Amino acid sequence: MRILRTVAEMRAARREAIASPVLLGLVPTMGALHAGHVSLVRAARAECAAVVASIFVNPTQFGPNEDFSRYPRTFDDDCAQLEAEGVDLLFAPAVEEMYPRGPRTLVEVEQIGDKLDGMTRPGHFVGVATVVAKLFHIVGPDRAYFGQKDAAQVAVLRAMVEDLNFPLELVVCPTVRDADGLALSSRNRYLTAEEREQARAIPGALLRIPAGLSVEQLRAWLRKRLDQTPGLRLEYAEVVDPRTLQPVTDLRGGALVAVSVQVGRTRLIDNVLLESER
Ligand code: AMP
Repeated sequence: MRILRTVAEMRAARREAIASPVLLGLVPTMGALHAGHVSLVRAARAECAAVVASIFVNPTQFGPNEDFSRYPRTFDDDCAQLEAEGVDLLFAPAVEEMYPRGPRTLVEVEQIGDKLDGMTRPGHFVGVATVVAKLFHIVGPDRAYFGQKDAAQVAVLRAMVEDLNFPLELVVCPTVRDADGLALSSRNRYLTAEEREQARAIPGALLRIPAGLSVEQLRAWLRKRLDQTPGLRLEYAEVVDPRTLQPVTDLRGGALVAVSVQVGRTRLIDNVLLESER
């Protein structure tokens, strides 16, 4: 696996990779890799002749009081995992390489980017859309792989790809969970043993939603399950259309049920997609 640190190197490597016409897959990450990230790499590896992963802890998607500086950075271990999974190129730029003049031109997906985490983390999705647009321009993938775990991010990026005519396909891979159901997340490393135990209530609720509830009953049920568990504080529980992130009034057409929960100092998100006609 080659590691590329500059935009120029990345572009030259991309030109080499596509010298013979092949599908190029991109898996963007912030590192601290776990089996969820690996599942995206495996999906890319299965479909594409060349796979590029990126590791970049993107400062523009963190708020001023968030965890940018303490976000886990495990570069050597990440490289070993990517190498073992057969990744061809790893783009791992410094912050100055990505934002040499600071963040200046920004990508904002209106109407979607201010929902869910965009509501509780103002500006978050401007940072996400901007960095992903830059990665798309730098790497030039045919397919880009993202996790359903970050469902609002998927909605924002789908809209961006459509609105800005990026010539690529987004591939969304299922959420990978621990044996007890907790969605894998780089931020799970922050949890104490006690918090990790309390966090089980999140999949305990999302994966056991009773059939036949109205939207209001479902929200109340989630609030009860998640806000009343000791140690947890529900930040939001939303029942929305997975593409527009607008609230739905009826579950019969299917819905995205997304929650954000504060566990101690750590904010965890998770979601499930309810199918239509349940
Ligand atoms: P991150 O490093 O947190 O920015 O995540 C990089 C990519 O991995 C994003 O597309 C995430 O949605 C995806 N991802 C993170 N956790 C999981 C998981 N548990 N299952 C599947 N994909 C995931």
